[in-house]
Amino acid sequence: MNGSTLPAIAIIGASLAGQTALQTLLESDDVGPVTVFGAERHRPYDRPPLSKEFLRGAWDADRCALAAVFDPRVDWQTGVAVTGLDSHSLTVRLADGRTRDFAGGIVIATGARPRTIPGADLDGVHVLRTLDDAAALRTQLQTDPVHVVVAGGGFIGAEVAAACIERGTRVTVLEAQEAPFGQVLGHEVGEAIMATHRAHGVEVRAGAAVSALHGTSRVESIEIADGTTLSTDLVVLGLGVIPATGWLAGSGLELDGGLECDSTLLAAPRIVAAGDVARWPNHRFGEFRRVEHWDNAIRQGRHAAQRLLAEHGRSAIEDFVTVPWVWSDQYDNKLQVVGSTFDFDEVMIAHGSTAEARFVALYRRGDYLTAAFGMNHVKIITRYRRLLSNPVTWAEAMTEIEHIGRVGERAASR
Ligand SMILES: Cc1cc2nc3c(=O)[nH]c(=O)nc-3n(C[C@H](O)[C@H](O)[C@H](O)COP(=O)(O)OP(=O)(O)OC[C@H]3O[C@@H](n4cnc5c(N)ncnc54)[C@H](O)[C@@H]3O)c2cc1C
Repeated sequence: MNGSTLPAIAIIGASLAGQTALQTLLESDDVGPVTVFGAERHRPYDRPPLSKEFLRGAWDADRCALAAVFDPRVDWQTGVAVTGLDSHSLTVRLADGRTRDFAGGIVIATGARPRTIPGADLDGVHVLRTLDDAAALRTQLQTDPVHVVVAGGGFIGAEVAAACIERGTRVTVLEAQEAPFGQVLGHEVGEAIMATHRAHGVEVRAGAAVSALHGTSRVESIEIADGTTLSTDLVVLGLGVIPATGWLAGSGLELDGGLECDSTLLAAPRIVAAGDVARWPNHRFGEFRRVEHWDNAIRQGRHAAQRLLAEHGRSAIEDFVTVPWVWSDQYDNKLQVVGSTFDFDEVMIAHGSTAEARFVALYRRGDYLTAAFGMNHVKIITRYRRLLSNPVTWAEAMTEIEHIGRVGERAASR
């Protein structure tokens, strides 16, 4: 540390990645003023409970809040969307036309926003990204809808379906792929997940791409690409997300499927990015992609802050290398994926059985183990998480299965 205070820094996006970056910056006594811009009116909160405890009515909004940060160096600008950026002068533009300079640098953590389809503005059609989205959906679920249709059978759609069923509502999930999760996790694993939903009474229709929503002011039906329609009074769109980079048009930054960064999370001099918005080369898996998971937003928030400090000679420059990890809770089932299932060549059920909804699947790409998926096998997945922290060949992984299974089962029975 050389002791002088750094010029003003901005964090754009007041959520998990932004707040983690903030906390990391504040650990340095050299950091001076930091302004946090957040388009939402809320202080940072956690999103995973929104589709789980909050939607089921078990948690209120306060319980979703992230730990409050009190520090006189921080200027919280919540409810303030940044509308533009000049990446050369480090100037941000606000909706009212004002501009502000941040010579110390900028952390971009604007996350992602839900994909929608025509008709999404009809009453009774919901997305689920923000606390306000979740509150609106929860309120409408309390009016006892007759038939909820969830468009999209990914993690969010599956969690919403589970929450609705637990409230006693009729639910249909429409999924464009031939098997929900098939592309990401493989057919057998996707079927195993969907079997748990069917067992709880969810109607799952695969190969059913949603093409339009119909109604006058309120949604009345949903149209599927094969021309059939389904009547409904509440639709939840779980069609995935797109990176929130629209405000960066003309900024001079590379925007291609996310905000492009180098392997250290630097997007341009004194500009770093973290979380769902950032696309970076992850050398661990040879991939140049975004990762939309909670754990990644935290790790990248921390790393991006350090990387910005390195721009001022206050920290070392290091690559951001990670083994992604995501979990999902559906009914009493705990699902976890560790590693990258992208473009896998083979899936193998290595532990347990899909019929019992308790298993671990391993994923091979080329000669390497690249990922493990677990349903109700938390201990064993923890072992694979450790194994995957370094490159491991498929052949090596095969020799580990028996040992991991024994240790994992022993740990689970304790
Ligand atoms: C309902 C739900 C459930 C989830 N469940 C899980 C789970 O079980 N497990 C898991 O691993 N992950 C889960 N996730 C994913 C996880 O929550 C995200 O990966 C994480 O929130 C990403 O954090 P982020 O800070 O990068 O982006 P976000 O959380 O999306 O935050 C970005 C923030 O930036 C703000 N913003 C955008 N543009 C601007 C602008 N121009 N100016 C100012 N502010 C702006 C946005 O309003 C937002 O508040 C879930 C996500 C959702 C929505």
